[in-house]
Amino acid sequence: QLSEDQVNAPVVFHSASSVGYDRYNFIRQSLGAAVSNHELFIELQPQYESDGSMVCAEALVRWQHPQLGLITPAEFIPIAEESDAIVEIGQWVMNECGKLLYECNKSGLRTRLSINISAKHMARADFSEKMLAVIAHWNIPNGSLTIELREAALIGSFALVRTSMKELADKGVSFSIDHFGSGNLNLSYLRDLCIKEVKLDRHFIDEEGENGAQSPLLNSIFDIAKIFELRTVAEGIENNTQFNDAIKRGCHVFQGYFLDKPLNVRDWRAKLPVK
Ligand code: C2E
Ligand code: MG
Ligand code: MG
Repeated sequence: QLSEDQVNAPVVFHSASSVGYDRYNFIRQSLGAAVSNHELFIELQPQYESDGSMVCAEALVRWQHPQLGLITPAEFIPIAEESDAIVEIGQWVMNECGKLLYECNKSGLRTRLSINISAKHMARADFSEKMLAVIAHWNIPNGSLTIELREAALIGSFALVRTSMKELADKGVSFSIDHFGSGNLNLSYLRDLCIKEVKLDRHFIDEEGENGAQSPLLNSIFDIAKIFELRTVAEGIENNTQFNDAIKRGCHVFQGYFLDKPLNVRDWRAKLPVK
């Protein structure tokens, strides 16, 4: 247990130091109550096509911790993944996104949302049942929801994940592979699973900047996307050069600080086109 002074002190995460260790444990302990205490919230980062139309937004969770302040998902999601907290958080995000889609539809605003689901959550036997319940509860139209999975989610519990994906795809849910090319995905999964889209990690885009248009790794990633007829989303676009490179590469969708930072719900809604 931390003293009040320790909790209120500005803490920097140094994994090797005792402060880092305390912060890690403190986060781990307080994760359990984050959902029930309404400490989580969502920001939405728009995704655009090259003609400037906003086609989707990625839902990104944040945690306003009562003592530690704002905590990024990069810090708390890996800790949540060590326990069932990740399932509770994922379920909360699913429901919150269902509610947002419902409210947008009611107001005549057109949008789609993309949510991140952890491998551990996806591997739960009741995942598709829970997701379908959210879809039914909020009356989510076909084609309004994408689930982003990391390659790791497709490697464990393959048969189960495949069944869940099929059930959800039948109800109009799309699947996207986040950080595509950074894991060791068996390419036949792209053929056998109902995957529609891949997201290219920002370090690939950066590599393009460093190596010019001929990055062999990036070439082969785009070849794979083409062969499997996958939509490509370029992530982490921070400047005009990266944006133009991604357009030249034939990417279909673009996301990054250059286009929009993750926005709060109100600012995101203000940008949505009317149906
Ligand atoms: P991700 O799914 O790849 O999300 C993209 C991350 O890149 C987000 O960080 C976003 O804010 C950041 N980003 C967007 N544009 C740019 C850019 O131009 N430059 C740079 N440097 N960064 C950019 P964020 O929100 O901190 O999320 C980090 C990761 O945490 C996510 O990576 C995702 O893996 C995970 N995450 C976020 N929300 C959730 C969630 O609801 N559930 C789960 N399971 N994971 C989540
Ligand atoms: Mg993502
Ligand atoms: Mg991503």
